[in-house]
Amino acid sequence: MHAHASSHTTTTTERGSFALARCSCGWAGPARRSRDRARTDAADHARSAVTEEP
Ligand SMILES: [Zn+2]
Repeated sequence: MHAHASSHTTTTTERGSFALARCSCGWAGPARRSRDRARTDAADHARSAVTEEP
């Protein structure tokens, strides 16, 4: 069970022709050419951030 798994809310932001993922914890992903890529970054972050939480 993960007791602290609810603090990562991710969104995607568009910047010109790029998109990047951001998280409520302050994390931001790299600028991507496609919004799909940014969403994948967000999903990856949320997953690994939860498992690596102390
Ligand atoms: Zn986060």
